[in-house]
Amino acid sequence: MAVELTTPSVLPTLATRLSQRRDLVTEVPGPESRNLHDRRTSVVPRGVISSLPVYAADADGGIIRDVDGNSFVDLGSGIAVTNVGASAPTVVAAIREQAEHFTHTCFMVSPYESYIRVAEELAELTPGNHAKRSVLFNSGAEAVENAVKIARLTTGRQAVVVFDHAYHGRTNLTMALTAKTMPYKSNFGPFAPEIYRMPMSYPYREENPNLTGAEAALRAIDQIEKQIGADSTAAILIEPIQGEGGFIVPAPGFLPTLADWARSNGVVFIADEVQSGFCRTGAWFASEHEGVVPDLITMAKGIAGGMPLSAVTGRAELLDAVHPGGLGGTYGGNPIACAAALASIDVMREHDLSGRARAIEALVMGRLRALSDDLGGEQGPIGDVRGRGAMIALELVKPGTRKPDPEITKAVASACLAEGVLLLTCGTFGNVIRLLPPLVIDEELLLDGLDVLEAAIRAAH
Ligand SMILES: *Cc1c(COP(=O)(O)O)cnc(C)c1O
Repeated sequence: MAVELTTPSVLPTLATRLSQRRDLVTEVPGPESRNLHDRRTSVVPRGVISSLPVYAADADGGIIRDVDGNSFVDLGSGIAVTNVGASAPTVVAAIREQAEHFTHTCFMVSPYESYIRVAEELAELTPGNHAKRSVLFNSGAEAVENAVKIARLTTGRQAVVVFDHAYHGRTNLTMALTAKTMPYKSNFGPFAPEIYRMPMSYPYREENPNLTGAEAALRAIDQIEKQIGADSTAAILIEPIQGEGGFIVPAPGFLPTLADWARSNGVVFIADEVQSGFCRTGAWFASEHEGVVPDLITMAKGIAGGMPLSAVTGRAELLDAVHPGGLGGTYGGNPIACAAALASIDVMREHDLSGRARAIEALVMGRLRALSDDLGGEQGPIGDVRGRGAMIALELVKPGTRKPDPEITKAVASACLAEGVLLLTCGTFGNVIRLLPPLVIDEELLLDGLDVLEAAIRAAH
């Protein structure tokens, strides 16, 4: 009988084109990246920033290869977009096949089947078994804008409730919906009216650590009733797990209590799952973890393997209330993006990427919690480890306090980059390291990335 000598791997290995190994062959950034950066500064404004100074040449599985031939471990997925990888073969084939027939006709001019198939998939995959309709757009912000349009039209009310630390996009309406001023809103006003911001459930930073999710929801509901009135409230818009705001997972009970109140008061409950959707959190949608059935759900990032596509899916009676011509856009539901979405959804299903995300959670959480304990637990630099599935964050603080430490956060991210690990930061206070590996990442590569992160945190501490 064979004796098992090593820990059995929990993530089945998937075939890849690029070798899934971290490999630095030049300094970082290398000469080609530096050259591109010089050219960029003469033609691209500084308002568009890049988190990382290396320019991509190729990407596959959990690897991004730069123009100097360096291979980096990708722990960002282009902000939770390439859940199925950045060049999944079946997605690439679907894109190529569609492009050889037509790149665009405009669904509002001469429609095509793939748009309908995406809508059929979304009706099946999103929470709830009521009749649903879906409308497709290009970006997350566009989906959120349209969800608000639909909620206002169907309720005949104007007020939209959003939360502290929320991120919903950069267009005029979605800037107003977003919480953080710098860099998203500063000096870009005036902003859209009738937006009301309520306190979020943020367990790590709650003044009363025993506050339950239901109590945190009632705190917000009390403010809604006092400041707006239920009968003036069109919608509650919330990320089930906040993304840019710091991967904030509300206390259990928070989302269901808000959703129940919305239902009882004729308020449309909109889940913004642009970042948390498509297997990222270990389920098709993060709302499912607490059995929440949103009236409308906005989706984008992970939907189409990197192609620009977004959607609003929701109750048929809400979407059908909009007059003909009231929803749409030239590129919305582009046929190549639809083909990529259908192929990506197949990959998610076939390889059970939700199950993979849960296995990634078990691996990563175990490692990070052990590291946190080893560095002093609550008294150490890692104030909080949180998240679900492959959407995991470390909140870094000055040891012995809850004071955010954005400097150490930046130092850790740069140290990882220098060692060949690409990771992103986030959070209202700039002190959160977020891990968003492609869900297809190779187990050894992921563990290698975690080793580098651990060493960087120990060194910076
Ligand atoms: C990224 C994001 C958006 C905006 O999506 P874009 O495609 O960048 O417009 C909206 N909501 C959430 C939760 C996001 O993470």
